[in-house]
Parts: sequence; structure tokens; C-alpha cells
Amino acid sequence: MQDQFQRNIDYLRISVTDRCNLRCKYCMPSEGVAWMPHEAILTFEEILRLMRLSTQLGFRRFRITGGEPLVRKEILSFLEESAKLPGVEDLMITTNGLLLPEMAFDLKAAGVQRVNISLDTMNPERFHEITRGGDVSTVIKGVFRSLEVGLNPVKINVVVVRGFNTDELPSFLSLAKQYPLHVRFIELMPIGISSEHRDEFVPIQEMKELLGLKEYVPTQDILGGGPAEYVQPSGYKGSIGFISAMSRHFCNTCNRVRLTSDGKLRPCLHSKHEVNLRDALRNGSSDEAIKDLFSQAVWHKPAEHHMNEEALQGLRVMSQIGG
Ligand code: SAM
Ligand code: SF4
Repeated sequence: MQDQFQRNIDYLRISVTDRCNLRCKYCMPSEGVAWMPHEAILTFEEILRLMRLSTQLGFRRFRITGGEPLVRKEILSFLEESAKLPGVEDLMITTNGLLLPEMAFDLKAAGVQRVNISLDTMNPERFHEITRGGDVSTVIKGVFRSLEVGLNPVKINVVVVRGFNTDELPSFLSLAKQYPLHVRFIELMPIGISSEHRDEFVPIQEMKELLGLKEYVPTQDILGGGPAEYVQPSGYKGSIGFISAMSRHFCNTCNRVRLTSDGKLRPCLHSKHEVNLRDALRNGSSDEAIKDLFSQAVWHKPAEHHMNEEALQGLRVMSQIGG
């Protein structure tokens, strides 16, 4: 469906849990984030109903995220049901990859087409540090398992943090050269905990200089209609992408809204404005009434974010919104 700025909004990102088996430093604090109580979280039946209604409004592409989506019980049967819904053309998942070695095959069998895996560093000590305890070799195993089972494309999300992984950018370039992996470098966004770390922000332009990418030909985003700008240097099996939410924001082509795990529809990642769909789901509202709420929220999606002027320090940290 269209919003009031004539953008075609057909992409819903669904956070199925606020829980996670990691504690990435830029995403959530080491302690003090209370998990939402189970009854606050939408059931899979409720999410499936919202997905079905959203397809009637023209939504076609669905990304399942979290927290860590793969830690939620019964996730595979939920994905299988989602993939079967009429109108669901693209079912994708964003994961930290820790559970992919054992789950990639089942994800593919359930109908997931593509996977984004977060991997900010390939150095074991650094990975342990930034994720507060994660094991990078398991994630790397998960990356290759995903390729093996035929998830396609497999994208690697690298949040670039000054003084932490800037020296590793060329190693990620080699990864995209050797394997059909699409490595996307992402600007750190000042949301929640990260709003205190603006000095760690690296603009895309500087990343390109660090990579020695002075002259290059951007390729069309054949990989999903998202905000990344892709480059495929000759001889590469994969590609390199840049996601610049800050230095060159892509609000005018934004095609998505987000559903939080507690059932709030969030028209813009960077705005605190949310519409409570959970109450509507639980107070006996009709399909039509829920679709009305949904489409009003989409219609009022803001024209653009204001993160460059103002950090987003709201009630939620990134793991609670879904990235
Ligand atoms: N747990 C899954 C994962 O890590 O891929 C899915 C949820 S996570 C919140 C989704 C994405 O948001 C990850 O790629 C993560 O790196 C990114 N992210 C979290 N906080 C961020 C921030 N402040 N700026 C930019 N990206 C961020
Ligand atoms: Fe968990 Fe993903 Fe946030 Fe890391 S980025 S703490 S893996 S939700």
C-alpha cells in the first residue's frame, strides 16, 4: 500500500522475541534490560493473523528478526506456516548465526528464502568482546552451512565501529571475493545504548576510503529492494554493500514498517511513535478494524528520520525493536 508520500510500503519486519543469546555492546546494555513477560509477547497465531491481514493490504515481503529469532520455541513451525500464507512472496530472517549450524537446513525446508547474518568481526577475541561472550567460529560455521543448504542470498551484516573493526574491512572484502556472500557495511545508528557512542560512528564515505574503493560502479540492488548500495568488483563471487542510515539516509525510498514482539506497529525505526495492535488483537476487534489501524499507521509513516540531529533514547533498545 502507499503512504501519504507515495512510497510503496510492502515490507514488514517482524520481531518475534526481545530475548537474545548474545549481548552486543551497541545493541543492548550488559544488564538492566528486563525481558518482556511472556504474556506481553504476541503468540505465533497472533502474528500469523497480522501477516495474513497485511498481505490483504499489499504487504509481500516479511523479515523475521528479534532479539534473536532462532531462540524462540516453535520458530520453525511458525516459519513454515508463514511461508504458506497466500501473498507471502519473500520470507527472510536476520540472525546472529549462532544457531545456524544446526538450523539452516530446517529453515530452508520451512520455506525461508534468504538469511542475513550479523558478523562484525572475524577475530575470535574481538567477537567475544563485542558480543559479550559469543563464539565466532560457530557463526562462521553457520554462514557456510547456510550457503550449503541453498539459502540465497546469504548476506553478512557488518556494523562498522571506529577503533574496533575498521582495520578488518579488507578481510570482509576477501570474504565477498572468495564466496557468494554479500557483505554489507552498516553505519552505527545512535539508538538506545549506541546513542552514547557517537564518536564510534564511521560514515560510509570513510569506509569506502578504508577499502580503497575510489572508483567503482554501483550495481542495482538485485538482492532485495532494500536500502543497500551494492558494488560487485570484477572477479568477485559475492558483492559489497553499504547501508548508510545516517550520512545519506534513504527515507525517500523506505518501503517498510516494523512490528515489535509485543505487538506495536512502528512506522519508522527511528521514531518512538507506535500503534498498539496487540490490544486490538486481544479485544475481539474484527479483521477490518485491525486492517484500518494498520493502514492508518502506514499512511502516517513520517517523511524522514531526524537521527542526525537527535539520538533516539526511548523506552526501547535495538534488540527490542528488531534492527
Ligand atoms: N539478533 C539478530 C542479529 O543480530 O542479526 C537480529 C536482531 S539485531 C537487533 C538486527 C541487526 O541490527 C543486527 O545486524 C545488528 O548488528 C543491528 N544493530 C543493532 N544495533 C545497531 C545500531 N545501534 N546501529 C546499527 N545496527 C545495529
Ligand atoms: Fe542480540 Fe542481535 Fe542485538 Fe546482538 S545485535 S544483542 S545478536 S539482538
